[in-house]
Amino acid sequence: MFWQKDIEIISRRALEELQLKRLKQTVRQAWTNVPFYRDYFSKLSIKPKDITSLNAMQKLPLTTREDLRLNYPFGMLAVTQEQVVRLHTSSGTTGKPKAIFFSKKDVDRAADLIARCLIMTGVKKDDVLQNMMTYGLFTGALVMHYGAEKVGVLVIPAGPGNTKRQIALMQDFKTTTLHLTPSYALYLASVMHNEGLDPKKDFFLRRAYLGSEPYSEETRNKIEKFFGIDVYNSYGLSEMNGPGVAFECMEKDGMHLWEDNFIMEIIDPESGEKLPEGEKGELVLTTLCREAMPILRYRTRDIVMIIPGKCKCGRTHRRISRIIGRSDDMIIIRGVNIFPQQIERVLMGIKAVAQNYQIVLESYDQMTVRVEISKDLFDGKVEHLVNLRNEITEKLRSEILIRAKVELLEPGTLPVSEGKSTRVIDKRTL
Ligand code: AMP
Ligand code: ZN
Repeated sequence: MFWQKDIEIISRRALEELQLKRLKQTVRQAWTNVPFYRDYFSKLSIKPKDITSLNAMQKLPLTTREDLRLNYPFGMLAVTQEQVVRLHTSSGTTGKPKAIFFSKKDVDRAADLIARCLIMTGVKKDDVLQNMMTYGLFTGALVMHYGAEKVGVLVIPAGPGNTKRQIALMQDFKTTTLHLTPSYALYLASVMHNEGLDPKKDFFLRRAYLGSEPYSEETRNKIEKFFGIDVYNSYGLSEMNGPGVAFECMEKDGMHLWEDNFIMEIIDPESGEKLPEGEKGELVLTTLCREAMPILRYRTRDIVMIIPGKCKCGRTHRRISRIIGRSDDMIIIRGVNIFPQQIERVLMGIKAVAQNYQIVLESYDQMTVRVEISKDLFDGKVEHLVNLRNEITEKLRSEILIRAKVELLEPGTLPVSEGKSTRVIDKRTL
């Protein structure tokens, strides 16, 4: 099933023509209305008329988070304030937030992209979506909410937290679809397990959309198995509307990035050079339809690769891989580059590991991995604990090539976050 079939299965040639037409409009709009872009263009001696092909966009400047911060609050706005109907800010971890504005049309287009994603994963009007993302300045919940309403499903604006109430809502209103972070999904699973609830029997769940933070295939498998549902990966960032930028179809083999709304490029994060399809690099996105706040060649910092080839579902928009890491999340210990997700993948592949873990960077050559494990193991023989610790240490070593100290903890020891979780504690910078 499709929401906007013509555009979802458009031929590559027609899609590229549409992209070029929209790119030219976007460049002109940015140049005319956003002083930041006009200055930038003139420094590089570029005029909108120089953008005559999709390749010519390499001449355009890259926009960074810092640019958005420096232009906070209104500097990136391309329309008058009267035309703006919504403000979101990005959750960025440091410094000033970034202000993201939506016009009425922007809100509507973002909702259409979500509607495409929901229909693509089999949602129908009789579905009930429990939205456990944070409502408010964060885009995660509201953008999904508007898209789901557009499709016509019943949306429960639960927000995160208050897990017992979440469970009651799920049972009372026969929730079929969840939208939440992977860390909260794991926490929800552990609460249900402790309450003796079986989500396969006592509930009506069919699917969950997990996004807003990185997670591995192993975590997906764990959650799918526990809840008896299909888990679909959902990628987005506030600067590009929030959720609905890229989403998995029922093939679950990479996320279709809606290329009629965004141009994607993969660059080498060091040199800024564009990389060929199939190579890992930083995702750079250009908005093609945003009225209030067009953004050109935005450095997402997210490391991905474009999956070559066609998808069986028939959609022609290319797919990106799971987010491999953020270029600024990379940990360097003893000169080895490590992404926190590599550690997560190892941990979630081990049955006795529960849902929560933390990576503590003690110094430039020592790292501790603190991990919660099944409660029953603490009631059994000590040698089981020793064996498990050795197993985790060994598996980590073969993945990340260094020996980390492993600490086993009882469930509930580590803090649980309702929004995005903080997995890495860097004592080196404290
Ligand atoms: P925010 O702007 O606060 O919504 O944060 C956006 C960032 O969250 C992205 O740039 C990614 O780093 C991360 N993110 C969002 N969705 C996913 C996902 N499905 N997998 C991994 N990381 C994600
Ligand atoms: Zn597909």
